Amino acid sequence: MLTLKFGGTSVGDARAIAQTASVILQTKTQDPHVVVVTSAMSGVTDLLVNAAHAAAAGQRQPYLDARDVLLEKHMTAAQALLASEEELAQYQHHLEEQLRFFTRLCSAVYVLGELTPRGLDAISGLGERLAAPLLAAALRARQTQATWVDAREILVTDDQFGEAAPLLGPTCERSKARLQPLLEAGITPVVTGFIGATATGIPTTLGRGGSDFSAAILGACLQADEIQIWTDVDGILTADPRIVPQARTLRQLSYNEAAEMAYFGAKVIHPKTMLPAVERGIPIRILNTFHPDGPSTLISNHPTGDGLVKAITAIRDLTLINVEGRGMMGVPGIAARTFRAVADVKANVLMISQASSEQSICFVVKNSRSQEVIQALTETFERELARHYIDRIYPVQDVVIIAVVGSGMRGTPGIAGRLFSALGRVGVNVIALAQGSSESNISLVVARPDLETAVRAIHQAFFQNQHVPTPQLV
Ligand code: ADP
Ligand code: ASP
Ligand code: MG
Repeated sequence: MLTLKFGGTSVGDARAIAQTASVILQTKTQDPHVVVVTSAMSGVTDLLVNAAHAAAAGQRQPYLDARDVLLEKHMTAAQALLASEEELAQYQHHLEEQLRFFTRLCSAVYVLGELTPRGLDAISGLGERLAAPLLAAALRARQTQATWVDAREILVTDDQFGEAAPLLGPTCERSKARLQPLLEAGITPVVTGFIGATATGIPTTLGRGGSDFSAAILGACLQADEIQIWTDVDGILTADPRIVPQARTLRQLSYNEAAEMAYFGAKVIHPKTMLPAVERGIPIRILNTFHPDGPSTLISNHPTGDGLVKAITAIRDLTLINVEGRGMMGVPGIAARTFRAVADVKANVLMISQASSEQSICFVVKNSRSQEVIQALTETFERELARHYIDRIYPVQDVVIIAVVGSGMRGTPGIAGRLFSALGRVGVNVIALAQGSSESNISLVVARPDLETAVRAIHQAFFQNQHVPTPQLV
């Protein structure tokens, strides 16, 4: 049994959906038991989220426009894919019903002037419910029995809206009960990615990019032989090919390496995808829908050779926060209070760096949380600021973290040196630096405008230099 997940670009228009359908058919010739998981058509989730926020800010037009765009986008694809009048009419009926629900939700948000995380999940999860029935119908149009399944029926989560955690016990029970009979009857289930529901049925989402995670959860529950993530690039590459066109496919990665790369910005796979798979030892393969016979990446337990650096990744939209003061030296508890204040406002810290002189602590949070964090720190350290034990608490806005990832880096001297020479040569200033204790990554903070130059220079230093040993590549 295989779980196949298709991302937004793989269902982005009629041509892509037709290609996705071919990949599914081709896969079924090797293993007829296939569970498909799909994302929303590309751009749809952003459109839904933006319309919801605009409604909360008192604007009606964006959600009315979004409804028209969604109707047009899905109907255009449906008309090209579905030859049967009956199938087309049935899909149109479903689409119009979902879009009426969308405008009702947005108008409630508009009237209230408030968008709760629960409300946002109800709205942002609609895209998958428009895509899954279309893909299922496209398979039926190719004489393959298929039916769409709303993951709210089977994927049970807690109520952490916007980033819900799956409850594996009930999820496995429900997904087996719902999906296994379909598989046994020769019907391919097409399940909505990204969404779930609480035990009482309130819709939730697993977080942006979460369809990969959905596929891994279902794959683990159904004991899949492989979880396949079909996307728009040839697997996981040594860097984002949009930044480094010379980037090459990494044929094999360990679960840890893949998780580390995903956490540090390799958006090709959601960081949580590895969790359910590693527990049951299920391999994950990343493939290109538009180049199905091209190179792919296999993520598993197998050792991945002695390559040094595996990849360069980047996370955008971040703020570096500095807590600085000569009076901090030797004062115990400053770091603990700093991070307690950050935790109290539920902001996630992506990286921490403290100079050994103890005169400053700096750490990185998302841009969207920086104001709240500064406010919380200013309140926590009111007394220290008044007495000048702490001189300043200030943000450096719009920075990025670049991470150099690879388990083979452990114990290998000279990596940091090569990294800094590369950046020095192209004149990129490193604002802060951290090395995880696992030594499987070095991360550094640079200004946003330096991102591309820095990633290319590091990639060049580690992967495009003939004299340097490279990890297992294509
Ligand atoms: P999907 O819609 O299929 O889920 P995503 O857009 O979420 O696809 O992820 C695929 C994108 O991830 C690629 O188009 C690529 O630009 C980006 N990406 C970032 N880092 C990497 C990397 N190291 N290897 C491959 N792709 C990467
Ligand atoms: N459609 C969702 C998103 O855009 C989930 C996904 O694509 O994985 O975040
Ligand atoms: Mg994705």
